[in-house]
Amino acid sequence: MSELQGQPEAAERRVRCPACQQWCLYSQRNPYRPFCSAACKGLDLGAWASESFRLPEDTPSDGAFGDPKLLQ
Ligand SMILES: [Zn+2]
Repeated sequence: MSELQGQPEAAERRVRCPACQQWCLYSQRNPYRPFCSAACKGLDLGAWASESFRLPEDTPSDGAFGDPKLLQ
């Protein structure tokens, strides 16, 4: 009868959201892991894909979602 003393958190890691630095659940219950939400997940992917990953004055960027690798 010691099941109430179980440690459910042991199987649920928590990590800091790479986008907003908030602690969030890192498990199957969080489909946006390691992010805290769909918003942060989308923001981070967008930043890496288009903005933060390259210099802003690199190109005038006619194509909004052009892949740098494909452009060269
Ligand atoms: Zn977040």
